[in-house]
Amino acid sequence: MTNRITEVDDREAHADLREEARSLVASWQIAGRYTPQSDSWLRGFDPEFSKELADRRLIGITWPVEVGGRGLSNTARLAVTEELLRAGAPVAAHWVGDRQIGPAIVRHGHPALKDELLPGIIAADYIFCLGMSEPEAGSDLASLTTKATKVDGGWTVKGRKIWTSGAHHATHMYLLARTARGEKKHAGLTEFILDMDTPGVDVSPIVDLAGEHHFNEVTLDEVFVPDRRVLGDVGGGWSQVVGQLSFERGGPERFLTTYPLLAEIIKVTPSSSVGFREEVGSLVSRLATLRELAWQVAHAMDSGAAPVQEAATLKYLGNAFEHDVIEVARRARSRDALSRHSSHNAYLQALLASPGYSIRGGAAEVLLSLIARQEVQ
Ligand SMILES: Cc1cc2nc3c(=O)[nH]c(=O)nc-3n(C[C@H](O)[C@H](O)[C@H](O)COP(=O)(O)OP(=O)(O)OC[C@H]3O[C@@H](n4cnc5c(N)ncnc54)[C@H](O)[C@@H]3O)c2cc1C
Repeated sequence: MTNRITEVDDREAHADLREEARSLVASWQIAGRYTPQSDSWLRGFDPEFSKELADRRLIGITWPVEVGGRGLSNTARLAVTEELLRAGAPVAAHWVGDRQIGPAIVRHGHPALKDELLPGIIAADYIFCLGMSEPEAGSDLASLTTKATKVDGGWTVKGRKIWTSGAHHATHMYLLARTARGEKKHAGLTEFILDMDTPGVDVSPIVDLAGEHHFNEVTLDEVFVPDRRVLGDVGGGWSQVVGQLSFERGGPERFLTTYPLLAEIIKVTPSSSVGFREEVGSLVSRLATLRELAWQVAHAMDSGAAPVQEAATLKYLGNAFEHDVIEVARRARSRDALSRHSSHNAYLQALLASPGYSIRGGAAEVLLSLIARQEVQ
């Protein structure tokens, strides 16, 4: 019961943060500076918007005050991110740095690395991409072969990363590479932070189904990374990255990606048939459950835990919800309950981006395995 009261208090306490985020997106919309978009945390890239959030101290809000953050809770961050995603705002430039690389540096970074990188993330000067997946290592990430070899003063890295979202905009890459080969493939992995303008880094576009360029293939050819850019312990990359995945999977972007489309559906609901209203009602009640789950994940993070299974559950259920929003919109359009003309852009954007929802950040089947393992533990 005590926990429950604390949660309610938290939500009320974050009303000011919600209001701040809402007023920023409203002012940008009134000025015509952006159009709400599905999948905005991956496709809505606008460094100026991220800069305005930074000016309002809405980036890195959970990080300790001594490293430039506000020392607020993950539930506080959730309040802000929910508002930004609901509005389909262009948040991609700071998303990865704020969501997971900054927190990973706060948790595992040596003091010099914190001093070097955290201020630039908080100020939205640094844009991060994630160098995890490789042509032969996605779900089975520990099979990666990108190799970092020890040299004087640092490491040279050789290998290939793929599906790297935003690498063409990024100033920095989070890189997971193999520094030793042991009996177990999960051992001998190390996390690095790499400057994207280092000689030997080559970024090639991959154009997706929507005809958009948001992910890339990145070739690393004898790229030098100084010792100070090792994140955490050499060889300790696996346990660190598993914790990081909670931050990657456990946020509201795993169920609010199609919110701009849901908002269009809700607008036409009062004048629609009973059957349609029931479908929308079911979506809205599922959304309430997912929001509750996201609050629980955020609370677990606030207690210092890395809620791997809970985050996997949220992502799995959230992605199914996002797909169902598109399906309800499709049926509504075919019955003319939803005007084909007015809903065209939101629908098409969501539909063309949707194959990636249940693959990125961990494929659905792999998440199910993680959840099932929790049940037998
Ligand atoms: C839009 C988008 C953006 C992305 N951005 C990034 C990024 O910025 N950085 C990055 O590093 N990666 C990124 N990725 C890559 C993403 O993380 C991988 O695609 C994902 O982990 C799956 O890996 P894979 O593509 O190699 O597929 P595979 O691992 O080959 O999987 C193929 C199929 O096999 C199934 N499968 C695999 N293993 C199992 C198993 N053990 N049990 C049951 N079924 C299994 C999967 O569910 C899937 O359906 C992105 C992907 C997408 C779609």
